[in-house]
Parts: sequence; structure tokens; C-alpha cells
Amino acid sequence: MSFNRDKFIAEGFGQRYAWLDLLNSEQRDGFGRVTEHLQDSSWIQVFLSHWNLGARLGGGGSIEGLKRLRAFFCRTAEIVASGKSLPKTDLHWINKGLHVPLHRRVWTRKDRSYCVELVPVHRDWGWQRAELLRSLAELLVDDRHSRLKICPNLGCRWVFFDRSHGNTRKWCSDLTCGNRDKVRRLRARQRQQKDSSIKGKSFSRRSPLNGHPKVRD
Ligand SMILES: [Zn+2]
Repeated sequence: MSFNRDKFIAEGFGQRYAWLDLLNSEQRDGFGRVTEHLQDSSWIQVFLSHWNLGARLGGGGSIEGLKRLRAFFCRTAEIVASGKSLPKTDLHWINKGLHVPLHRRVWTRKDRSYCVELVPVHRDWGWQRAELLRSLAELLVDDRHSRLKICPNLGCRWVFFDRSHGNTRKWCSDLTCGNRDKVRRLRARQRQQKDSSIKGKSFSRRSPLNGHPKVRD
């Protein structure tokens, strides 16, 4: 499957936090079938360029490195979404990854105003990983972590940031997983009603009271 930016956005990537895209790169279709986007160089290219991380994996980077970072993000999301605090060892690992050399640079905008920014000394994998870890750190602060959710559909498990007004969103999408759950519950109710009406009929056939329930004395 070849990815371009439109398809990337249409699939639900590129929303607010870069680390969530890497985390969801092992994408399930709602029925448990998995697409491994890290095997697709076009997905990696769009992912990196969308988040201004260069056109390809930097020096020292590899698919295995991305997978290891994704495994860490998966563990982190499970902990954060369950309302627990991250262990100190994980915070230490994040801080270590954030420690990459940067320098300040002054430049002019089109309107001739000046601007100072921090730029990486090396645009390598270490910097790309630090940027992904930075996006995780940005979600952890200011109580935003309470909005991290994991879709409860076991065949999906999409991790998302809940932007709803009351932080009440449950499913990755009401149109897919939410709707499937509605249909599943409706069918379960219909089955239950059917079962109880069959039981009622067989009871009335057996009943010596010709259709009236037997009264205990
Ligand atoms: Zn879902």
C-alpha cells in the first residue's frame, strides 16, 4: 500500500501528537486484522515529513529502533490511560532520550521581523527520537494525560487524544467501533428476547394450568 499525505490523514494519523502515530502504526481494522505500517517505506516517509522530522530515517535509525520505541510507547499508553503514574525508570529513559545537542539560531521572517529558535546540531535518529519523546512529554503535562484513551474494541485498540468538550469520548470513532458495539448490543438484546419467548412457549406447553404460570403455595 502506497501512502501519501491525504491517505495518511484519512486513516486517522497526523492529528496532534507525533508519538501516537508511531504507536498506532501497527493498525488493527476493528476485527483484529493487523497492518504493519513500519514495513511500508511510503508510510514512514509521510510520517516523518508530516512531523517535520526529515524525509527519511536519520543516521543510526532503523526499523528495529522504531519498533523498540513503539513498544515503549505502547507500554506508556497503557499506564497513562489507566490513570497510573509512569515509573521513575521510564521518566529517566524519556529524559535520557530528550538529551540531544541543540543550538540557538536567529533568523528573519518574510515580514522582516526576527525570530530565535532552537535547532538540532545533528538531524539524525537521536534527534528524531527526541522529537517523538518530546511529543509524549507534551501530552503528559497540564493534565492532558487524562485525555489519552485506548479504543475498548479488542480488535482495534487505536490510541487517541480525546478532544471532546467533556472528555467523554469512548471509541476511536462512533461511526466504526462505536456503531459496531451498538449493533452487537442490539443483536444480543434481540437474541435474549427471542430466547425468553421460546422458553415462555415451551413452559406454556408443559404447564398443566393451560398457559397460566404455576403459583407456589
Ligand atoms: Zn476502535
